[in-house]
Amino acid sequence: MKLDDKLYLVRFNTDKLSHIKIANPSVCLQQCQDKPCTRFCPAHVYDWDEEEKRIAVGYEGCLECGTCLIGCPFGNIDWKYPRGGFGVSWKNG
Ligand code: SF4
Ligand code: SF4
Repeated sequence: MKLDDKLYLVRFNTDKLSHIKIANPSVCLQQCQDKPCTRFCPAHVYDWDEEEKRIAVGYEGCLECGTCLIGCPFGNIDWKYPRGGFGVSWKNG
């Protein structure tokens, strides 16, 4: 099964509160040249906003894979599981 087909099986119950925060946005702007979060997240949650000069976080699509806990070279992503009852579930499982 292709990844896109698997992602089709994901269901989201989106919380109004984000379970992801950028701890210090100035680190992204001033120290992190490569901004790897814009590439390692399989759900494309992180996007560099050139106008606002900050990382935009589309937490609603988070797949809860945990990669950002180890992937940010500055440990600058404050990630927790969504509150109980929110987040991802699976259509077949
Ligand atoms: Fe900011 Fe970490 Fe993303 Fe770099 S990888 S832009 S420090 S959140
Ligand atoms: Fe992206 Fe995975 Fe982090 Fe969610 S836990 S924001 S899917 S890298």
